[in-house]
Amino acid sequence: NEGLGSWPARRARKTPQRPALIHDGRTFTYAELDDRVTRLAHGLRSLGVRRGDRVAYLGANHPSFLETLFAAGALGAVFVPLNTRLAAPEIAYQLADSGTSALVYGPAHADLVAGIRDQVPVRSYVALDGPGTHGGHGAQGAHGYADLLAGGGAEPVDEPVSADDLCMIMYTSGTTGRPKGAMLTHGNITWNAVNVLIDHDLLADEVALVSAPLFHTAGLNMLTLPVLLKGGRCVLVGAFDADATLDLIERHRVSFMFGVPAMFQQVARSPRWEGADLSSLRLLTCGGAPVPPTLIAAYGERGLTFLQGYGMTEASPGVLFLDAGHAVSKAGSAGVQHFFSDVRVVDSSFDDVPPGETGEVVVRGPHVFRGYWGLPRESAAAFTDGWFRSGDAARVDEDGYAYIVDRIKDMIISGGENIYPAEVEHAILTHPDVLECAVIGVPDDKWGEVGRAVVVARPGSDLTADGVLAAVAGRLAPYKIPKSVVFTDRLPRNAAGKLLKRPLRTDHGTA
Ligand code: AMP
Ligand code: MG
Repeated sequence: NEGLGSWPARRARKTPQRPALIHDGRTFTYAELDDRVTRLAHGLRSLGVRRGDRVAYLGANHPSFLETLFAAGALGAVFVPLNTRLAAPEIAYQLADSGTSALVYGPAHADLVAGIRDQVPVRSYVALDGPGTHGGHGAQGAHGYADLLAGGGAEPVDEPVSADDLCMIMYTSGTTGRPKGAMLTHGNITWNAVNVLIDHDLLADEVALVSAPLFHTAGLNMLTLPVLLKGGRCVLVGAFDADATLDLIERHRVSFMFGVPAMFQQVARSPRWEGADLSSLRLLTCGGAPVPPTLIAAYGERGLTFLQGYGMTEASPGVLFLDAGHAVSKAGSAGVQHFFSDVRVVDSSFDDVPPGETGEVVVRGPHVFRGYWGLPRESAAAFTDGWFRSGDAARVDEDGYAYIVDRIKDMIISGGENIYPAEVEHAILTHPDVLECAVIGVPDDKWGEVGRAVVVARPGSDLTADGVLAAVAGRLAPYKIPKSVVFTDRLPRNAAGKLLKRPLRTDHGTA
């Protein structure tokens, strides 16, 4: 077995007594993790899960997230992590699109799951807090996580899995509105972990604080999985809280953290910040958006530096990184390519742009995905001559350091979550009193950026901002819902009628 499913057993052979996962006062050693994963794999098999089948997980950070990922991997099944912030119709879409047959879910999502049962192809529901305690009691296909573990055998699951087999389908929002499932192989994720081990210098006694959501590629693939591959320990946190973060750093002597800038910002603003013992911290990595200089300065005062990263779900995700030593001299840069990654910045005829000029970032390497699930045309269009087209614009300086200058796709990043304006605009346009709508990002102290809707109301209507927002509540995840609405007489468009986002930002885009 060349896949992730073999990692717990391989670790248990090498370092059985070392702690692997810590959560809510409980510690699981690698031997215990291996045992639980094996039992879960047998349990999933007893539910009919076979090679290639999709097993989804919907819940906060918890050991069972990783156990389900590894157990699915041991069976050659495909893991589908779901974003816990999505609304019911969005979850239902991803379950249906991926053809998921088994779903593991946490107690906070029991009602949501009960509400979508008749819209999804799921056959087996595994509740973390016991079989169907929330509305699903006695319902067909309802199972309890603990029962599944207790019933599963301890003999190794002997299923051949190759590095080229599919490991995960991770959904990433598309410009066209519908999220696309990025297909990542066991090899993709392993090579990304190797890049992290090499370029971030991970140690065997690393203690990682995992408060970034595991359902996102960064928290899972840049932090948790590389640490588990190396034999370190991961402290799993169900819900991020700045004060609690500082307590956990002290209690567990945390050495390694990953977060988006908004998360690090909130920690530095905690009243506990000044008195906290941060002496164990060695490696802070920040990714998903540019790190603001004020943040670098605030942590610098405490002797802490940031390693910054640029990547995307389709690249498993690490592409570029900027080591802490260059945080100041190359401020604003996303850095240089990872060890097993090839990166170019190209013009429209796919030639490398000269230093100082802007082009599109394209990526090639063993960590780059297989394509989008069920979308052969979009998959083919995502590559040119084997290079994945990121859609991000960048320039490269004389030393080869890349600077991401714009998001070609106009994406808004709010607290580490990507918001595609087109999806939000479509939802707002369903309101009968909305004639036209555009969504732009505006700077925000807490989230980095938040969405703002610029709306042209039907003449004579008494449309209010609340009326616009009510139209999208419940249809979109809360983070996608604009934080403000401004009204205007008309939107700037070019001759072809295409929306001009630049003048729109100039006129309406300031906080
Ligand atoms: P995702 O689809 O969630 O994997 O997000 C990937 C996108 O986030 C990239 O295509 C970039 O547009 C953006 N991104 C990621 N890291 C950075 C960074 N360090 N600086 C600027 N943009 C970034
Ligand atoms: Mg993307």
